[in-house]
Amino acid sequence: MPSSMALLILRRNLHGRTSSLLQARVFSRSPEAAAARQRASEPKPVEKILVANRGEIACRIMRTVRRLGIRTVAVYSDADAGSLHVRSADEAVRIGPAPARLSYLSGASIIDAALRAGAQAIHPGYGFLSESAEFAQLCEESGLTFIGPPASAIRDMGDKSASKKIMGSAGVPLVPGYHGDEQDVDFMRSEAEKIGYPILIKPTHGGGGKGMRIVQSANEFVESFLGAQREAAASFGVDKILLEKYITRPRHIEVQIFGDKYGKVLHLNERDCSVQRRHQKIIEEAPAPNVTSDFRTHLGQAAVSAAKAVKYHNAGTVEFIVDTASGQFYFMEMNTRLQVEHPVTEMIVGQDLVEWQIRVANGEPLPIDQSEVPLLGHAFEARIYAENVPKGFLPATGVLHHYRPVPGTSSVRVDTGVEEGDTVSMHYDPMIAKLVVWGESRSAALVKLKDSLSKFQVAGLPTNINFLGKLANHWAFEDGNVETHFIEHFKDDLFDDSRHEKEAYEEAIYGAALVAACMCSKENSYFREGFPGGNGLNSIWHANPPFRVNHCAERVFEFQWDNDNDGTGSKLLVLSLIYQADGQYDIEVEGEGNSLGFHVKVTPLVNRDFRVEVDGVSVQVGLATYEKDLDKHIHIWHGSKHHHFRQKLGQPLFDDDDSQHKPSFEMASHPQGTVVAPMAGLVVKVLAKDGMRVEEGQPILVLEAMKMEHVVKAPSAGCVHGLAVTAGQQVPDSSVLFSIKEYYPEQKE
Ligand code: ADP
Ligand code: ADP
Ligand code: MG
Repeated sequence: MPSSMALLILRRNLHGRTSSLLQARVFSRSPEAAAARQRASEPKPVEKILVANRGEIACRIMRTVRRLGIRTVAVYSDADAGSLHVRSADEAVRIGPAPARLSYLSGASIIDAALRAGAQAIHPGYGFLSESAEFAQLCEESGLTFIGPPASAIRDMGDKSASKKIMGSAGVPLVPGYHGDEQDVDFMRSEAEKIGYPILIKPTHGGGGKGMRIVQSANEFVESFLGAQREAAASFGVDKILLEKYITRPRHIEVQIFGDKYGKVLHLNERDCSVQRRHQKIIEEAPAPNVTSDFRTHLGQAAVSAAKAVKYHNAGTVEFIVDTASGQFYFMEMNTRLQVEHPVTEMIVGQDLVEWQIRVANGEPLPIDQSEVPLLGHAFEARIYAENVPKGFLPATGVLHHYRPVPGTSSVRVDTGVEEGDTVSMHYDPMIAKLVVWGESRSAALVKLKDSLSKFQVAGLPTNINFLGKLANHWAFEDGNVETHFIEHFKDDLFDDSRHEKEAYEEAIYGAALVAACMCSKENSYFREGFPGGNGLNSIWHANPPFRVNHCAERVFEFQWDNDNDGTGSKLLVLSLIYQADGQYDIEVEGEGNSLGFHVKVTPLVNRDFRVEVDGVSVQVGLATYEKDLDKHIHIWHGSKHHHFRQKLGQPLFDDDDSQHKPSFEMASHPQGTVVAPMAGLVVKVLAKDGMRVEEGQPILVLEAMKMEHVVKAPSAGCVHGLAVTAGQQVPDSSVLFSIKEYYPEQKE
């Protein structure tokens, strides 16, 4: 009798916290459940699941699948043959070349892989095929269980207009707008007048914030509307548009819902995902701050009605936009899949949603009632991306030369799909990891978020970690005063370091002094221990100043300090270090106008960790070095700070990293007028011809990386020169795209 669900009683819940509520009752024990079981044909047990995704979500799903004793099958493209998700699986099947449309988006190859591997079910993760009704249907037709909602619900919700109609009839509040079929531009303009400006134009089949346009007044309408239509046709294959009142200070609050195949739907509380850049979430939290429990109840009920309206089962998210001026909430869209930010919900309800997904897909009824859904404490998720924050959050690529996420605990969780040495490629989403923290209250959770961000070590490519730290430390975020324009609204605090220039500079000097001391200490122990495999004489022979008898050892270090946050270029720091007889170091730095001195004692710990004492205060220090672009890059994490320095190669320093020098695009200096790719990506459109005469600011080509589109424009008026890229071509970051030459009338166009 005891189905596998009874195991739920025995095991500790997901995060080591226990929830007596949830453990009191399990699927198979409740009378309704038993009856439901009998009604449904007894599901055959699933023994093998194929995960049709990559990266962190594939790894995260496999973790649960494995825990349930079910075998895992990974799929991979040629770019991912050695990836963590492949290594984490019991079996792995190649499904095609690197581009997603030939591999992770190829439904037929994935079904074929599942059948070959003998899997009974497919979990699609998020992105890729997770919201493809055709794929869900194809799975069922092939005798495979799709671990997700019914294809019909995916179809209904995939069209924002259709979904709004369904929601409207189910009594779910909608943003005032027009969601009809009539698409004539004059008609649409008159609808816009009725709604009242500002309005938001949205492609009905859009996603990822793409193609949306804000229109402030009637005279901008036609141009924006036609532009949005073109973009929607190009991106989603459907040029249908809907109009909505643009809410000027909204919050994005969404509700996690869950349904079983017997018509029961629960909501698992809400998440606030207001902190966004480019309409994409970067910090999420659950529950939403500063809302009343009444509001929570109403929102939850609306979400459940929404799900019931489309006969939903499995995990889904109903997104609402909340007008902070009126407090009114409106249905925005429903995401018919597991969401990126689902872990914050898992943290506050103490459950594993992937486990629920598998059980519900397998025909088991939901284990609890609405009144039994707990709300325990508060959780945050920060999405750690490889991206270039000062360049407008453009996706970045590169090698993770050093990767040391914070260690997981019962209240700190890191979901990641990469390991040190892996490459973040231009083919897929540049998310490196999700950092999820839990605390008994919002402020307790926030303390953990800040601490964990400051200790999350990534070096080798630009990331948004410093930026996330700034967000988490911002007073308005601390107060929970979030809204979707948060980043834009506080951009001066978040991007402009000039108000704290002196402080930042002095902190960098302090960081540089610690680096110099740690490097000397490391070098010292390196030589003292001798070279690996060498004899003792070697170390004496190679010993540098500290070991030479009659030397008063002094070293000069030159560091370029890059302030990763504001991208205003780098500053040169010159440090002189004098070895003391007791093994400590005196370090002097010429600052701007004044000189600073430190007395530093270093105790090397394991790997690249050190305990460093400065003027009687000791801190834990982590160091990472790698070579790139003719420079040695040095990262230091000390206290709650992180600094990044560069040193010209050839300066004497310990050399214990095996990274290789790579040719540089970034360092190459190009003649004036040269335009380089601001990010690695796919050329989706070329709008000019080589030799053509163009105006300043004229769009030349469109680059796309993941969900981000970037229009590359002419930096000045002139003639396009050397434009050789074509649509469909991948270009690396900083590669030369074309140049603009001055135009002389006698020149041919
Ligand atoms: P969310 O609102 O949860 O961010 P989105 O629909 O915008 O949902 O995207 C969900 C996630 O799916 C993204 O963060 C991204 O990681 C992933 N994703 C979406 N499209 C793709 C794609 N074409 N390739 C890889 N990953 C994708
Ligand atoms: P997507 O499918 O691209 O996620 P959504 O309809 O969910 O599109 O909208 C994405 C984001 O755009 C929201 O999270 C919110 O920040 C903003 N947004 C959407 N609708 C409105 C609106 N009517 N007024 C103001 N902002 C909106
Ligand atoms: Mg959305």
